[in-house]
Amino acid sequence: MTRLILVLGDQLTRDVAALRDYRPGDVVVMAEVMAEASYVPHHPKKIAFLFSAMRHFADQLRAEGIRVAYTLLDDPENAGSIAGELLRRAAAHGASEAIATRPGEWRLIDALEDCPLPVRQLPDDRFICPQADFDAWAEGRRELRMEWFYRDMRRRTGLLMDGDKPAGGRWNYDHDNRKPPPDALTFDGPLRFAPDDTTAEVLALVRDRFPSNYYSHDGFWFAVTREQALAALEHFISHGLERFGDYQDAMMTDRMFLYHALISPYLNAGLLGPLEVCRAAEAAWQGGRAQINAVEGFIRQIIGWREYIRGIYFREGPDYTARNALRHDRALPEFYWSGETEMHCVKQCIDQTMSEAYAHHIQRLMVTGNFALLAGIDPHQVHEWYLAVYADAYEWVEAPNVIGMSQFADGGVVGSKPYVSSGNYIHRMSDYCGHCRYAVKQKTGPDACPFNLLYWHFLDRHRDRFASNPRMGNIYRTWDRMDAERRATVLAEADAFLGRMDSGGRV
Ligand SMILES: Cc1cc2nc3c(=O)[nH]c(=O)nc-3n(C[C@H](O)[C@H](O)[C@H](O)COP(=O)(O)OP(=O)(O)OC[C@H]3O[C@@H](n4cnc5c(N)ncnc54)[C@H](O)[C@@H]3O)c2cc1C
Ligand code: SF4
Repeated sequence: MTRLILVLGDQLTRDVAALRDYRPGDVVVMAEVMAEASYVPHHPKKIAFLFSAMRHFADQLRAEGIRVAYTLLDDPENAGSIAGELLRRAAAHGASEAIATRPGEWRLIDALEDCPLPVRQLPDDRFICPQADFDAWAEGRRELRMEWFYRDMRRRTGLLMDGDKPAGGRWNYDHDNRKPPPDALTFDGPLRFAPDDTTAEVLALVRDRFPSNYYSHDGFWFAVTREQALAALEHFISHGLERFGDYQDAMMTDRMFLYHALISPYLNAGLLGPLEVCRAAEAAWQGGRAQINAVEGFIRQIIGWREYIRGIYFREGPDYTARNALRHDRALPEFYWSGETEMHCVKQCIDQTMSEAYAHHIQRLMVTGNFALLAGIDPHQVHEWYLAVYADAYEWVEAPNVIGMSQFADGGVVGSKPYVSSGNYIHRMSDYCGHCRYAVKQKTGPDACPFNLLYWHFLDRHRDRFASNPRMGNIYRTWDRMDAERRATVLAEADAFLGRMDSGGRV
């Protein structure tokens, strides 16, 4: 009996569970469907990246002699959804069951469960920590601190280990990292690839079917095959990794790429595996090509943060994206789509996002995320924005980062305190403030940096929740020491700013 093997757009590896189950006679089903391409207004470069990578992967499977039923987006028979395509292909091939690798999103897991064709969902074992192990680790803990989880992952993988001790004597070298932006860059950013014929065809399709006023279609350079992704990884390891730790939090005007890897779209789509990436970084350290502070910091992002975030998504369950612990309900300002704001830091991060479908972690967390949290924006709208605009965004990884880490909407599952800061942090870690119409040193008045006003506004309105947090007590004491008139001015000016923003005024 013919079986269908479903391969989703973010499962593009021979090693994915459903493909390991492949038997001669099975038919691999891959489909470009509108339901997936439009459930949020995805960045066209994200759609183009996935469609092109899918088409290349299908070619690779065919070259191995595997039967692939591939549905193009503009195929007149296209059923429009993954479940619909499974049913159509099952009827065409006489199949009575499908094998899938469990999707990274509850929405799609449910759609496969509800499909009239029986779909067996195998665990997605491309991750280092199986969900059952994560749940066992988390069970009974008062706080799910990433750092403890990360140490377990180091022991489990043996990465940067010297027997049962951390290599170099420390688990974490962040103390040596996180410097302000350098005067000059020695790394020109990620390896870029000229679109081949397949990508050019996909770009034309995407331009036609997903026209957009706010996103840029131009200058597509992502890797779309495993070979290209490996070359991009090697380029970063050879030229960027050495300074990753030093400058991982720095931000510079008009320099979109500092010393980051830009591999998250490849990792999340399956073109690269997390362990091979970490082993390549470890080998650079062993070969004397990168210092331990850089390599440890980089490996921590992958076996620590990435695995932890995924564990949280599946542990917390399908209601996670609806959480709103701080009861924030302001509409997402239009400038998140247009970049039309006077706040130079926000404008830089949004402009870059709209052109490249990329921003680095601190831009996402401490600029656009920080602003949304301070301003009290509805976390679900914030979540949908992040899910749409980044090429690496899938709900399993985006939601805990946004709902949890960035917006504190999960009430403290991911972070024990909210990531909020005044303009001072952005000033320290970037050159943005020097280009801004607002003055970062001004706390009140018409030129006061909005982050300064909103920072106190946030703390004041959430006093009941945070004042007793031991990590925030000092901040409240500083606020309380300010004279009452000054506090009233800060709050009134913050309210006026939010009012202008809500009424569509340029802020
Ligand atoms: C609000 C917010 C939203 C985010 N949304 C996403 C998202 O949708 N998809 C996504 O892959 N990452 C997301 N991240 C995490 C992180 O910003 C990106 O993984 C990173 O910027 C990708 O760029 P890079 O490859 O240059 O990363 P590098 O800085 O070079 O780091 C290397 C790798 O570490 C991993 N990594 C680092 N931090 C995290 C993290 N917090 N969670 C998961 N993986 C991590 C990524 O795979 C990344 O490729 C988000 C972070 C925040 C604060
Ligand atoms: S002054 Fe404030 S708004 Fe302007 S760039 Fe600096 S932090 Fe951003």
